[in-house]
Amino acid sequence: MTETSIPAYDDNNIFARILRGEIPCRKAFENEWVLAFHDINPKAPLHLLVIPKKPYVSFADFSAKASSEEIEGFTRAIGQIATEFGVVASGYRLVTNAGPDSGQEVPHYHVHILAGRALNVSFG
Ligand code: 5GP
Repeated sequence: MTETSIPAYDDNNIFARILRGEIPCRKAFENEWVLAFHDINPKAPLHLLVIPKKPYVSFADFSAKASSEEIEGFTRAIGQIATEFGVVASGYRLVTNAGPDSGQEVPHYHVHILAGRALNVSFG
């Protein structure tokens, strides 16, 4: 099946502007693959957003188009961030919203890392 419903990347979305340094963020981690920063409206004591440096609209876009190297770099960065923030033993949740039904607000692929308290078991 060919996916044709991924919208074009909007260069002016808020995370693209954060990547370009046009809007400030509270940086948590950076390497060649990702930038991670604190969510402006945290839903948990630790609420980070991890974004790839390259322009992908959503998980759908990233999983279809990113190279194996990028996917590995992104995935390993999330693990490294969780380790650096000391939440591996206590636990954490990864969330990514993709597309309209998920409520995705910002059209640049991002993974939320939520930690620091017992999280509700709710899947929408
Ligand atoms: P989504 O609903 O797209 O999965 O999540 C977008 C997230 O980005 C929300 O949790 C929202 O609080 C966060 N956010 C939106 N604008 C900004 C911003 O300018 N700076 C930061 N740090 N977070 C933002």
